[in-house]
Amino acid sequence: MTPSASTSATPTLIRNVRVLGGEPQDLLLRDGVIASVGTAPDEADRAGDITIVDGTGLVALPGLVDLHTHLREPGREDAETVETGTLAAARGGFTAVHAMANTDPVADTAGVVEQVWRLGREAGHADVRPVGAVTVGLQGERLAELGAMADSAAGVRVFSDDGVCVSDAVLMRRALEYVKAFDGVIAQHAQEPRLTEGATMNEGELSGRLGLRGWPSVAEEAIVARDVLLAAHVGSRVHICHLSTRGSVEIVRLAKQRGLPVTAEVTPHHLLLTDELVATYDPRYKVNPPLRSADDVAALREALADGTIDIVATDHAPHPLEAKDCEWDVAAFGMLGLETALSVVQHTMVDTGLLDWAGVAERMSAAPARIGRCDTGELPHGRPLAEGEPANVVLIDPSASATVDPAASASLSRNMPYEGMKLPGAVVATFLRGRPTHVTGGLL
Ligand SMILES: [Zn+2]
Repeated sequence: MTPSASTSATPTLIRNVRVLGGEPQDLLLRDGVIASVGTAPDEADRAGDITIVDGTGLVALPGLVDLHTHLREPGREDAETVETGTLAAARGGFTAVHAMANTDPVADTAGVVEQVWRLGREAGHADVRPVGAVTVGLQGERLAELGAMADSAAGVRVFSDDGVCVSDAVLMRRALEYVKAFDGVIAQHAQEPRLTEGATMNEGELSGRLGLRGWPSVAEEAIVARDVLLAAHVGSRVHICHLSTRGSVEIVRLAKQRGLPVTAEVTPHHLLLTDELVATYDPRYKVNPPLRSADDVAALREALADGTIDIVATDHAPHPLEAKDCEWDVAAFGMLGLETALSVVQHTMVDTGLLDWAGVAERMSAAPARIGRCDTGELPHGRPLAEGEPANVVLIDPSASATVDPAASASLSRNMPYEGMKLPGAVVATFLRGRPTHVTGGLL
């Protein structure tokens, strides 16, 4: 077992790598930090115990940070564990993940968040930042011990009842007031419960044709609108999880124009897939919030490009086979996302010219670390690829492509919606404080 804080890895010199997609440079990782960026002296090759990597054709980004991961431990270790989930994270280029609170028991006490945090350190594949529940047992009735979770060893800064919405406006207001004291953020799963009772797919012409209960856009937008106003009223930070509609984008855009303290995320699957897929009745496409229309997808891409949507977050949601291998109506909501996130973002945002690699670094590393307040402190993430910064680095081969095969996943689950699709890009190596946590054949 390697403690995740270890910095005892062999120094690594990555030659001719395109840092943030720019001109080729050499990147020297030593003693857990980036020792130099630029042209490394030739002697570096001969300086004894050092690993040389030919980075020709590769792009280097800071280690990715996921603000929204379901690791399922404790309670559903048949679907995922901290060990397997963080292994999948490393394969996807992530060096830190925020583990959602809807476990069993719920992460609503200092004890549970510390347990998850400790399991992450022991596994050592990526730093695990536990998310604390907003309400006890995700029941939406009374606030969980937010202060104790913030003060715990896990140092929780993100609180969410994700999976369900904090629909009570008074509780939401109190939560926003409470976390202000320690600069926390409430990450809201925006879903008006009455408007979505029994709903399993996007409301529209297709839901009528398929005979499935529709999930109207306004069920999300009504909560987004309410919460940006509450956050403004309290002067506290709100983060909107998995934005999925054009209307939500418009509300967040307006809120930001007014300078309100709101941030938002979009998932890779909402950037790529549409509700047309539901016509297959394949439960792999059942997700919360549901896949939306092509017009919504276009609005989400545009908003991620112009910064209205701050970040990409995976909402990696593993489920065991029996929860997905069944009728549409009874199947669980959720999709795997850690290992395919970067490829989907390359496909939808980079290869379309909407974002460059520096833009991807901002939206998948720097901004999520800032929102989760893990960009400073003992083990910082989302930092620039600059001398003296932690050696959290991902190497990508943008010219590679592969057909997605769920059987090859490091996750314990297989509910991957991209099965059989050919996606561009490959994560060829991930370094956590200079130590490789994922390497593809022959690179090191
Ligand atoms: Zn979620």
